[in-house]
Amino acid sequence: MTITMKVDYHLHTARCGHAAGTMADYVAAAAAGGLKEIGFADHFPLELLGYTPQEQVNMAPGELAAYIAEVQWWQKKAPLPVRLGAEVDFLPGREKITAAVLAAYDFDYLIGSVHFLGDWDFTHPAYQERFQEVNIDRLYEQYFALIQQLAQSRLFQVVGHLDVIKKFAYFPRADWSLLVEETCQILKAGEICVEVNTAGWYAPAGEVYPGLSLLRRCRQLGIPVTLGSDAHRPQDVGRDLERALQLLAELGFREIATFAGGQCRLQPLVLNRS
Ligand SMILES: [Zn+2]
Ligand SMILES: [Zn+2]
Repeated sequence: MTITMKVDYHLHTARCGHAAGTMADYVAAAAAGGLKEIGFADHFPLELLGYTPQEQVNMAPGELAAYIAEVQWWQKKAPLPVRLGAEVDFLPGREKITAAVLAAYDFDYLIGSVHFLGDWDFTHPAYQERFQEVNIDRLYEQYFALIQQLAQSRLFQVVGHLDVIKKFAYFPRADWSLLVEETCQILKAGEICVEVNTAGWYAPAGEVYPGLSLLRRCRQLGIPVTLGSDAHRPQDVGRDLERALQLLAELGFREIATFAGGQCRLQPLVLNRS
């Protein structure tokens, strides 16, 4: 079976300080893997949004111009379409500065993500013991409240790894179907695409982001989905995209969102049987 919509909009590079490989390496890996289109979405400098994290987990502010110039260079030279994106932390209370800062650039798309709860970088393995000190059900409510605000902010075209709060395999204990419902309704109203992020299969959680209950409700509500590997090394470009597309097709999705010039375009998720 050949799946033609292999697009990967979530690629990091060594520029963010915690990934490996140059853009050349990622482009070469994407071409070798038969990808249709890729987008770089390195971690946008938090300092430009007025936030200094405990640890440097994003591109340094001084790297941003060179990052954009290098993506633009590859847009001319690469053997496949390359889009300019960024993964931007949604920081509650900083929506205005975020909008003002982002308005200065011509990104093809922006992925909005939540990696911080207060000063806790809960996606960072070094701080995962804090999950044992909190009420997991309250934590999910807190996390998804931020996701809802992210969608309402209209700052981004895509919400990244929608349920990354499960990364270290701490799952809700109580029935959380109302939280799923409320969140999906707000994603729909916010006209934001949901990223199907294959890195979840390799995290301790062992599930794609987002998991099935969220994905099923997205499908029922007609929320568009796009794809990303969240590669932090060139060999992970396009990882499990076919598996993700297969899952999406089984769940009834018929289109994949692609991005250019800040606009989302839905393309058929074509499955050619051979
Ligand atoms: Zn990263
Ligand atoms: Zn992320």
